[in-house]
Amino acid sequence: MSNTQQIIEITERYGAHNYHPLPVVIERAEGVWVEDPEGRRYLDMLSAYSALNHGHRHPAIVRALKEQLDRVALTSRAFHNDQLGPFMAELADLCGMQMVLPMNTGAEAVETAIKAARKWGYVVKGVPHSQAEIIVCGGNFHGRTVTIVSFSTEASSREDFGPFTPGFKVAPYGDVAAIEALMSDNTVAVLVEPIQGEAGVVVPPAGFLSALRSLCTRRRALLILDEIQTGLGRTGKLFAHQHEEAVPDLMTLGKALGGGILPVSAVVGSREVLGLFRPGEHGSTFGGNPLAAAVGRAALRTLVDEKLAERAAEIGAYFKASLCAIDTPAIDHVRGRGLLIGVVLKQGRGGARPYCERLMEVGILCKETHEDVIRFAPPLTITREEIDWALERIAPILAE
Ligand SMILES: *Cc1c(COP(=O)(O)O)cnc(C)c1O
Repeated sequence: MSNTQQIIEITERYGAHNYHPLPVVIERAEGVWVEDPEGRRYLDMLSAYSALNHGHRHPAIVRALKEQLDRVALTSRAFHNDQLGPFMAELADLCGMQMVLPMNTGAEAVETAIKAARKWGYVVKGVPHSQAEIIVCGGNFHGRTVTIVSFSTEASSREDFGPFTPGFKVAPYGDVAAIEALMSDNTVAVLVEPIQGEAGVVVPPAGFLSALRSLCTRRRALLILDEIQTGLGRTGKLFAHQHEEAVPDLMTLGKALGGGILPVSAVVGSREVLGLFRPGEHGSTFGGNPLAAAVGRAALRTLVDEKLAERAAEIGAYFKASLCAIDTPAIDHVRGRGLLIGVVLKQGRGGARPYCERLMEVGILCKETHEDVIRFAPPLTITREEIDWALERIAPILAE
């Protein structure tokens, strides 16, 4: 009906400008490919910030959605539904954990983990009431609610949005000694990302997560890992903490948990912590609805059946090595794990945005993160041939 220009105009006129999208309209999509109203095709190398690990409209997940839609979509938690129990059992099993609390968005899962940790602090650890402290890391991204931006170190996330929620301390990312120095008897948890995606695909020093695991055990604080972006195969393992066998007490999942179709998130963890919630203390009208649970089950099944984590490890290693081999003064270095890759550009090159615009023109969709990093995070279903297709276009643009 409308062309790209008209759609962008109406979107900009009526929508709050809380995003700065590339000037491309996606009208249809399948697998790793998307198409605009004029019929131009693009390779999706952002995957909705890793929500599309399975690719667009994966047939097995679409089938599960349609079948569930013909039975029941929404019940609320006032009643049981037949999908939620199996979904939580399958998710707990895949994570090697005991209990699950389902929500919808990533930010809600993080909020839930914060509440759970505080409650554990008061009820189990014996922290004096309203004194609980949680340690987080500089450069963090855990979502956009007021409590979560309270401990952001990003000026634009916070500036005009105070007053903020107290009870958080910020240590430099990757620095276990600094985290320990901030700990007190009132510390109930350390909340970190195994790799900081939004900060520009920042990989912590080797041994950070396992050292953090030991520290948290020694000081009786919970280790909360936010795997909303890194989890479910993205980094070449089912969960990024498996690279160091640093098992968290609580883990937040979201994004790809919804199979690229619906918002589905969860906190997964121990019975000692998640078992503390009593009726009325927490909840969500849509959290755990049967449609989301059926889609989540299909997303988990597909992840395992199609060995998406293994694919991410193999294809990601090839892609990263190929990016490193591009001979250009524009690239400072390439970092990341699996299919979560950041190309860090040298300072003074005008930032990553113009490169992403040029890549769009040749049929590759990706997005700058921070000023100088291009994030490449295609669906984990991408083939080696499609990676080669992308490299043929990426290399000349980075060498321009
Ligand atoms: C995307 C993201 C979130 C927030 O998820 P939403 O669904 O956007 O609320 C939280 N933590 C991390 C690490 C993320 O990447």
